[in-house]
Order: sequence, then structure tokens, then C-alpha cells
Amino acid sequence: MTKEERYKGVLDYFQTHVPIAETELHYTNPFELLVAVILSAQCTDKRVNMVTPALFEAFPNAEALAASNSETVFSYIRSISYPNNKAKHLVGMAQLLLSDFGGTVPEAVEDLVKLPGVGRKTANVIASVVYNQPTMAVDTHVFRVSARIGLTTNAKNPLQSEKQLVAHIPEALVPRAHHWLILHGRYTCLARSPQCERCALTEWCKYFQKQYGSQIKTIPNGKEKSSKKERQGPEGQGGQSRKSGKRQSKSEGSGQKKRQTLTKKSG
Ligand code: SF4
Repeated sequence: MTKEERYKGVLDYFQTHVPIAETELHYTNPFELLVAVILSAQCTDKRVNMVTPALFEAFPNAEALAASNSETVFSYIRSISYPNNKAKHLVGMAQLLLSDFGGTVPEAVEDLVKLPGVGRKTANVIASVVYNQPTMAVDTHVFRVSARIGLTTNAKNPLQSEKQLVAHIPEALVPRAHHWLILHGRYTCLARSPQCERCALTEWCKYFQKQYGSQIKTIPNGKEKSSKKERQGPEGQGGQSRKSGKRQSKSEGSGQKKRQTLTKKSG
């Protein structure tokens, strides 16, 4: 299988079955998303969503946050990972947002990375989600899933992974592809134990082919796993909100659960 065929298979699958894929962070405007993404570094979206309602109420814009101090902000985010650093970053970010960008979240990645607490990944998320730019934020899920499937080859760091991905994914699909890969990594292609038996991407996955080769055909009902359609499951049931993206991913490929008995290749 060529790399182009692999990309096409994976992207076609997601386009058909996960037409809506969005961040699971809760926000109502670019400023809130920026705050939430900064908080989400090495922390779960679920945990971030628990603290942001009160935080956004207390600091609804850059002016309010810039006028505060890290000790006060800390009290709102103490349950988040690295709260001390993040509180300092949030106040610093708001102050720079006011002094250099008129309180508006900038569009360019080069400008975004000037803000305290904003690295390339966070900047790419903002540029992609807020401004629909074809930027690919590579987090741990995107990095791992892309490598396993074979969308990237020998990428040594997130930047190399990002470059390979954007070179192959059509610009219009890059923002959604970021969420497809994150959600797939979060709910199916788990770090320690990829759930291959309920994954719909086996046909195009390098890791799967290497692990199981041709010994994947045993199906409890006696049928051979043969068609793509069989493997699709209910993932394409659709959804309307960012929360629906989570539902889609959780149900992703669950229709396969009863179909395959996987046996690892020996040797
Ligand atoms: S087949 Fe397995 S390794 Fe490949 S993407 Fe699916 S869960 Fe991940």
C-alpha cells in the first residue's frame, strides 16, 4: 500500500463516518479557547472543563485577567496540573494580549507563540480552531496515532510529524484531521493498549498489519472479515456539537467488537 493510498483510506473513512470532529474543550469565544488550551497542557480536557466556568465568569476577557494576579488565578485552577506556572502564564498572556494585540487573540502562529504559555502546539490549535487555518497541532495522540498507522515515518519530534502530515492532508481537511487523530488516540488507539479489535482503520494501519498480518479473519459468527463496510460500525451516526465528537469517538468502531478475534503474529 502506498502512503497516498493509506492517507486516502483513513481520510475517506473519517470524512464519511466522523463528519464533525471538534475540540472537547468548552469555550464561547477565542479568548476562552486560548485560556482553555493553555490550561490543557498535560491535563485532560475533562479536568479543564471543570474549572473554566468559574474562571471565565471571574475573568471574562483579557482586561479582567490582566488586571488580576497569579495568586488569585491560582485559586481558580489549583486542581489543574502545574497550576503555579499556568496561573503566571495566564496573567502574562492577558497582559501581552492587551499591550501588543489590542486584547484580541492574534491569528498568525508567529504572533501566538509570543504569548506566555503558548507553544507551537497551542498556537496551531488556536489558528486551526478559531481561524480555520490549515495548521496541524501535534500532541501526544496525534504523534502516536500517525506513527502507528503509518501516516508519518520516522518522525522524531512533533514538528517532523506536523510537516509530514500537512504535506499529505488536503488543506481543507487539516483542521478536522487534527481532531480526528486526537479523538482516535483518546478513545481507540490508546497509548498502552491500542483497541485494534474495535478499530475501523485496520485496513490502512501499518501497526495492525505488522502485528496481526493475515490472521485477523476469525469472526465469531463464522464470516470472514472482508469488506470495509463490515468494519465501519456506528461511527457515522453523526453529531452536532463538540460533545458529539466525543460520543462519536467513544462509539467508534464498536460495531466490530463481535467480529474479530485477533491473534498476534508470532516472531
Ligand atoms: S488498528 Fe490498532 S494500532 Fe491501528 S489505528 Fe487502529 S487501534 Fe491504532
